[in-house]
Amino acid sequence: MKLKIVYYWLYFRFKRKSKTRKELTQYQQRKLQSFFAKVLTQSPYYATFVKEGKVLDDFPIINKQIFMEMFDQINTQGIKKQQAMEIALQAEESRNFSPEYGKLTVGLSTGTSGKRGLFVVSEKERAQWVGLVMNRVIKPIFFKKQKIAFFLRANSNLYSSIRSSLFEFAYFDIFKPVDELLADLNAYQPHILAAQPSVLSDIADRQQRGLLHISPKQIISFAEVLQDEDNHFISSVFNVSITQVYQCTEGFLGVSCTHGTIHLNEDFLLIEKKTIEGRRFHPVITDFTRSTQPIIRYELDDILIERESPCPCGSVFLGLERIEGRADDVLVFTTSEGKVKLYPDIICRMIARRTNDFRTYRIVQTDESHVRIELDCDPGDFDTVGQRIQAGIEDLLQTNHVYSITIELQKGITTSPGSKLRKVTRAIL
Ligand SMILES: [Zn+2]
Repeated sequence: MKLKIVYYWLYFRFKRKSKTRKELTQYQQRKLQSFFAKVLTQSPYYATFVKEGKVLDDFPIINKQIFMEMFDQINTQGIKKQQAMEIALQAEESRNFSPEYGKLTVGLSTGTSGKRGLFVVSEKERAQWVGLVMNRVIKPIFFKKQKIAFFLRANSNLYSSIRSSLFEFAYFDIFKPVDELLADLNAYQPHILAAQPSVLSDIADRQQRGLLHISPKQIISFAEVLQDEDNHFISSVFNVSITQVYQCTEGFLGVSCTHGTIHLNEDFLLIEKKTIEGRRFHPVITDFTRSTQPIIRYELDDILIERESPCPCGSVFLGLERIEGRADDVLVFTTSEGKVKLYPDIICRMIARRTNDFRTYRIVQTDESHVRIELDCDPGDFDTVGQRIQAGIEDLLQTNHVYSITIELQKGITTSPGSKLRKVTRAIL
């Protein structure tokens, strides 16, 4: 396994990089052709399309639901969904982090929608993934072993495989009590800190209050969308800029460059844009690295906003202005003139303009006419800050001609340990 990772690390390190969009498109087309011939012919679902001589544009656009429904037909290894699901659920139950189906690793995901997803990967795919992440994300400092503190919901098999003379990983299970984790972190003194933004914020908060003394050289955020205010807070406490990894169960999609722009990994992903409005789109992905379960024209719920101008870093990969979050994160109201959508970044920026005196907050739309503000701040500030946020949301609603919405203010955040924190969420069932 380790050798394979090193192989892929070197492969991605020295692979010729496309210098123009045209070169990149040509490269993708070559990749696509070999992918059709080698992988898709092994998938009962896609083999028919290939035999009929169809090109990618003719393939159906699918989503998580269809991907799960067609699980048995899509995968190339004859894996049965029911069996794989049983293995994954059992593993989750017993907190066994290495559920295996023959030589394959099975993973269960709930994702932001909360719906069950099931993923199966081979050793080769895992090695490739690790090689890529190491290559794209971690800034190597040579001649010194890097200690990486990795905060995860669970210590999965995937991450256990990375250990070499260049890197050492320590896992911090975010289900453990915070005090225990921080004591361990203090003792470990990592060079690199990797966690989801809500955990990074907590860590930065403790550091600022003198309860923690670490000096990481690199901070990596993943799993959740990193909001601007969290980004500023964390990077100012530790005095390093944050590397944002855009990743989901469906794959490693992108990473931020030195200018803070997230670029999509278009050298092994083909990204089609399903436009929502203006520069906002849902990505439809085709992944050349996934052979156990081919990911072909798979539409994600995420809302991405493309940069208006090319990134100064010169990358030919599609650059994002921001990731807005999942479709579930958009608040939707019905007015006499139709539906009005309030996007999370608009709400978060509105709040950022009005107040910064909080630890964190959540805006939850509980039904068509109710919004709840959950606020975590110093008790003495609660009324003032709460009113500022409430007034801001009222203004936003009014500007959009949405009336008669009841706004409720709650002390503290309703959240369970290990769950993903979403700043804005629609909880209508
Ligand atoms: Zn860039």
